[in-house]
Amino acid sequence: MSHRILLLGAPGAGKGTQSAKLAEEYGVEHVTTGDALRANKDMETEYGTPRSFMEAGELVPDPVVNEIVEAALADADGFVLDGYPRNLEQAEYLSEITDLDAVIYLDVDEEVLVDRLTGRRVCDECGANFHVDFQPPEEPGVCDECGGELIQRDDDTEETARERLDVFYENTEPVIEHFRDEGDLVEVDGEATPDEVFERIRGVLDE
Ligand SMILES: [Zn+2]
Repeated sequence: MSHRILLLGAPGAGKGTQSAKLAEEYGVEHVTTGDALRANKDMETEYGTPRSFMEAGELVPDPVVNEIVEAALADADGFVLDGYPRNLEQAEYLSEITDLDAVIYLDVDEEVLVDRLTGRRVCDECGANFHVDFQPPEEPGVCDECGGELIQRDDDTEETARERLDVFYENTEPVIEHFRDEGDLVEVDGEATPDEVFERIRGVLDE
């Protein structure tokens, strides 16, 4: 059977990693809003094409994003959706256009998320990624690949991490409530290694 899976979780909860594993394990498509927009830049909607907003440096409005995601899901034989819906209106739209088999919320404590987000380091020379806890370089502050200096991006400072999490909680709590009301929501403890978390998700899907 094909799977239609929605994965919800805060920045740093591991959605990207788990989505990739799910796509591989179940042979479904990993659909993200960003990829869907890039793949359908010139799709005509009532409000214009995504390209018209992207080239103007504007946020693509909700109704356009909704149509693009709908098209991407219609094209997929099974999917794991990641990064959408971002607010209650999008969640209600999604419920109207598709029957989800599972809605999984990766539950990770806020302080753990902050640690994960602020531990990222990137090489100033070659762009290689590291994490002080989960993927430390052999020598602190030095890139394994090229010997370049590892820096913390402005996006990964504690202040930015907390701002991103505040925005996430504000927008996503209603989304979580929506799917809880619909009876589809399963919470999975996301505080473990990626492989352990994946086993938990598989346990939910194979039930
Ligand atoms: Zn490097």
